[in-house]
Amino acid sequence: MAFAEIIIDISTTALDRIFTYEIPESLVDRVEVGTKVLIPFGKGDNLKSGYVINIKSEPGFDITKVKSIKDIELDADLVEGNLIRLAYWMKDHYGSTYIQALETVLPNNRKAPKNVTYIKLNVDADIAKSYRAQYELRHYNAKVRLISALIENGVMLRTELSKNLNISKSTIDSLVKEGIIREEEVRDYRNPNVSSEGAASKHRLNQEQQAAFDTFKEDYANGIRGTYLLFGVTGAGKTEVYLDMIDEVTSKGKSAIVLIPEIALTYQNVRRFANRFGDDVTVIHSRLSEGERYDQLDRAKRGEVKVVIGPRSALFAPFDNLGLIIIDEEHEGAYKSEQAPRYHAREVAIKRAELSNASVVLGSATPSVESYTKALSGEYKLLTLKERASDAVLPEVSIVDLKDELKAKNFSMFSRELKADITDRLNKGEQTMIFINRRGMAGFVSCIDCGYVVKCKHCDVSMKLHGDKLMMCHYCGSKMIKPDICPECKSKHIKAFGTGTERVVKEINKVFPKARVLRMDADTTKSKDGHEKILEQFARGDADILVGTQMIVKGHDFPNVTLVCALAADLSLFEQDFRSNEKTFDLLTQAAGRAGRGSKPGKMIIQTRHPDEYAIKLSKAHDYESFYEQEISYRRMAKYPPASHMFSVCMLSKRADELDKQSGIYKAFIEENVKAFDNVRVIGPVEAYVYKVKDIYRRVIYVKHDDYDILVDVKNRIEDAIKDGRLSSGISTYFDFDPMTTF
Ligand code: ADP
Ligand code: ZN
Ligand code: ZN
Repeated sequence: MAFAEIIIDISTTALDRIFTYEIPESLVDRVEVGTKVLIPFGKGDNLKSGYVINIKSEPGFDITKVKSIKDIELDADLVEGNLIRLAYWMKDHYGSTYIQALETVLPNNRKAPKNVTYIKLNVDADIAKSYRAQYELRHYNAKVRLISALIENGVMLRTELSKNLNISKSTIDSLVKEGIIREEEVRDYRNPNVSSEGAASKHRLNQEQQAAFDTFKEDYANGIRGTYLLFGVTGAGKTEVYLDMIDEVTSKGKSAIVLIPEIALTYQNVRRFANRFGDDVTVIHSRLSEGERYDQLDRAKRGEVKVVIGPRSALFAPFDNLGLIIIDEEHEGAYKSEQAPRYHAREVAIKRAELSNASVVLGSATPSVESYTKALSGEYKLLTLKERASDAVLPEVSIVDLKDELKAKNFSMFSRELKADITDRLNKGEQTMIFINRRGMAGFVSCIDCGYVVKCKHCDVSMKLHGDKLMMCHYCGSKMIKPDICPECKSKHIKAFGTGTERVVKEINKVFPKARVLRMDADTTKSKDGHEKILEQFARGDADILVGTQMIVKGHDFPNVTLVCALAADLSLFEQDFRSNEKTFDLLTQAAGRAGRGSKPGKMIIQTRHPDEYAIKLSKAHDYESFYEQEISYRRMAKYPPASHMFSVCMLSKRADELDKQSGIYKAFIEENVKAFDNVRVIGPVEAYVYKVKDIYRRVIYVKHDDYDILVDVKNRIEDAIKDGRLSSGISTYFDFDPMTTF
């Protein structure tokens, strides 16, 4: 006998459980993972629909109580079956409800396909005119307006009619009834419009590129599927290799998914895909509405496009003939979901590829420590590009010790070297990029006399100054006016510290009054195309200097930029985070990668108080391998991923005392349950890095072990205990495996 595990109607969270049903003989051949079935449910055995998510040969409980599947509502199709299998794996691997997992992988069909209704004349224009004359006599003004508009335009959108001409539904209905007009419903494909720019410029691959591509191509032809790490310095021409790989699989009738960390920041790159593949490509923007997103995914399902480009959610594009998943800039934190299931796109991509017999290509100039470890062990195949593609060479990097600047009595935020180089670039008409690592460093306000810092009332963080007066919390958005007098000691010496992008721009205006400056940060990019507009202006040469947060150094290709500066490289180094060295190294290396991409050589200046930190020193030398060696030995020693695995049990409550008590109980529960395994480390509970956000207190317990499966087992025990009431559900909890950010 066969049994099916079924999730009932994924739209109601109340039923987040698996139910087991018998598969009757007559349906055995048709019920698969992904089949939508009708089952008797509840007291009256009303029929409900559900998805089969697993099939097994034992019911797992009293067989006499198992009911049978009544009928099939929809046969499984391959894609949905695979995506549901994937969801099942994600739920287990990361921790979430079944419904959260399913909603992550299945396109949200509740925001259903949009049909648009057109209105047309159903009679000849002459006849229409005679009707109009009759209506005019009777003062049926709406009908007159409608017919006139149709005579003039032929066809009109129903929404247009109601919005612009104020014509009601009943007017339209009555004319339809009289047979004078008719309605036509058409499926509306909202197109997110990537403009391609004329002909595709295809480079002939250089030797290194060709070798990387050939390895992939030969494997692919021989039926070998796997994961590749394309490790190529900035400007090595990785995109060009991706394009050829996609060509290769699409020419064999397969489709491809390309993940990009943040579309808005990489429109130039996306355009290269559009140029090459034209209408075969669609782009899932993070700013698309859900309906638009659904439409684009639906086009993938119906085979109308072969390539989907998008952020991590594009991973679930419903291709049934998937051949390749590319993850560009695979080291980026944006690939980790911050909502349950807190999955990493890299791992899920590899799982999906396995289910669909596809390959995965990860690309980066600064591979994640995770991926490089796997490449070294042979689990991923390493493809290397050591040189820049065109004639461009890697930029010279200069480290400026800010302590020396102080000694030389230079109190400006610009070092002497930076000033000299900016002057030089301004004279030559070349461009400069200056960035600050984190927006969070925008001026916090503090009292010089007593040290008081203005904090948010609802969050455990300082308020940041925007402009001269307004202060804002970057966690909850609450606002206040900057106090003139210290609330603590009444001193008048209360002022802004730290360096925000605005202050940098002010300083540039002072030191280089003739320079044209653009600023790009969260504040200046709020509008829909905010990023694109600023980047385009800069690309056109409308400004000499682009100032911004780290968003400005991700992936752009501006040939006229010959100077890049990290104004204060330490800021990311001392975050409380085991990945902070890696983040700093990545950022500085990627930033340097923006300089000198054209024919003119580039330079990067790193201003820092810690010139001897290995993340800084080794990025100067563009020496990823040595950085990796140092970093992995640190991770081994401290048992951090990927040397070991860890997961955070994040606990939240409005009441600090309740949270204290419950997190202690959780800790005891975890310790009791890990007794069965050797060497599990349980750390905490400790206050989260930001203890309070929006009036909610947060604590965390870390659990570490070399074996991921043991951690999953621990997680399952906690989940079960919360479900059956052994652990309190009075606080909220979630899990984060191998976290990318500090909770
Ligand atoms: P990456 O993604 O590795 O940083 P890109 O793919 O953006 O590098 O390529 C960097 C620059 O080199 C781009 O301007 C690209 O057009 C150019 N390029 C790439 N491959 C070649 C090639 N084979 N010959 C000449 N120029 C190339
Ligand atoms: Zn004070
Ligand atoms: Zn706040």
